[in-house]
Amino acid sequence: AYLDRIAAEDLEVAAYLHVDAEAALKQAAEVDAARAAGTELGPLAGVPVALKDVVVTEGVPTTSGSKILEGWLPPYDATVAARLKAAGTVLLGKTNMDEFAMGSSTENSAYGATKNPWDAERVPGGSSGGSSAAVAGFLAPWAIGTDTGGSIRQPAAVTGLVGHKPTYGSVSRYGLIAFSSSLDQAGPMARTVLDAALLHEAIGGHDPRDSTSIDAPLPPLAECARRGAEGDLAGLRVGVVRELGGEGHRDGYEPGVLARFAEGVEQLRALGAEIREVSCPAFDLGLAAYYLIAPSEASSNLARFDGVRYGLRVGDDGTRDLDTVMALTREAGFGAEVKRRIILGTYALSSGYYEAYYGQAQKVRTLIGRDFSNAFEGCDVLVSPTSPTVAWPLGARVDDPLAMYAADLCTLPASLAGLPAISVPCGLVDGLPVGFQVMAPALADDRCYRVAAALE
Ligand code: GLN
Repeated sequence: AYLDRIAAEDLEVAAYLHVDAEAALKQAAEVDAARAAGTELGPLAGVPVALKDVVVTEGVPTTSGSKILEGWLPPYDATVAARLKAAGTVLLGKTNMDEFAMGSSTENSAYGATKNPWDAERVPGGSSGGSSAAVAGFLAPWAIGTDTGGSIRQPAAVTGLVGHKPTYGSVSRYGLIAFSSSLDQAGPMARTVLDAALLHEAIGGHDPRDSTSIDAPLPPLAECARRGAEGDLAGLRVGVVRELGGEGHRDGYEPGVLARFAEGVEQLRALGAEIREVSCPAFDLGLAAYYLIAPSEASSNLARFDGVRYGLRVGDDGTRDLDTVMALTREAGFGAEVKRRIILGTYALSSGYYEAYYGQAQKVRTLIGRDFSNAFEGCDVLVSPTSPTVAWPLGARVDDPLAMYAADLCTLPASLAGLPAISVPCGLVDGLPVGFQVMAPALADDRCYRVAAALE
């Protein structure tokens, strides 16, 4: 049924970069055969799933939204992909994304923009906009996204989905094409909080192949989602972050978004939560710090695309030296935003500027972590809008990188501190979805699911 919907609708939505119907049907038939033979199968066996194209899949084209990886067939599966395969899920296809996950609208994909199924003239968010559009458009029941500075939560918010960025280190990064290694994290995008929790449980947990993987069991996420849905939040202490849309911090926020958010807060109060305002002054510096740290790490990670090891190679006709072939390959293979970040990051890391830029940004990162620690002394969770605006018209921000970066205002603090955060739908403005963000202390992802389920 999903393959039929993709065939009928995806020319318009453009959520997928790669669909192999034959392979999907074969995987599904294998599950059926195993079931018929009496093999004990897990609860997700036979359920289709879409993967953001940043997740490496053995023998299945993986581009990370870039021309530089066009035609590359990975020789192995990312841990996330391997775990989903082992659970018996069926891979529907790979979804579109901003090139190397750099963006907030999916318009930075080298393969064209994806449309928001709520309004085909608008962006589906980004960078996991192919995954958000696939799920919102009923072209997949759920999908995997990755979030470096908001790329699961923001596209979920603007397409009316649930999206969760797990605690940094709690879902393996092995086989995710690296953007900013100290921030990247894969997570679920789904139509309901319970679905997101089930998908998260399938991919999460310790992985010895990722040196930053945390060796601790996952909390019982689906159980907490079910408990949250009962709607009892008595005694839960909820902090509303002033710096994220509160008094004196409303520049760039749409009034409708703030109104829906305030209604969400009232709903939490009605369910028994104690609401208090908290101040996290360093959050005001989150955007500036992120746009130094992420490009710095990206400039280093993207050095591996040299035209020798993977994908595209340009100008190698026997007359040119290695440096020239690398330069021609990178010039042709990377898009404008990727080049902008490589230049920014290389500059921020260069001798003489390192302390002033990268070093300062790392100090801000520490301050943001301290603000969270202080706030969590008096609160169990913190809340904010997920995105300052609803989905904007295609093209509206493509020539204005700073306007594009401003979409990440609310999601960046939890990213920089490595904390779990979920976006759950909280109503509409002019027919377009708004997201409500719930942030929790490290490894307390279960709290995000509990509160989100109560709001759902
Ligand atoms: N929009 C942010 C950026 O462009 C976040 C992207 C992400 O989380 N992958 O870097």
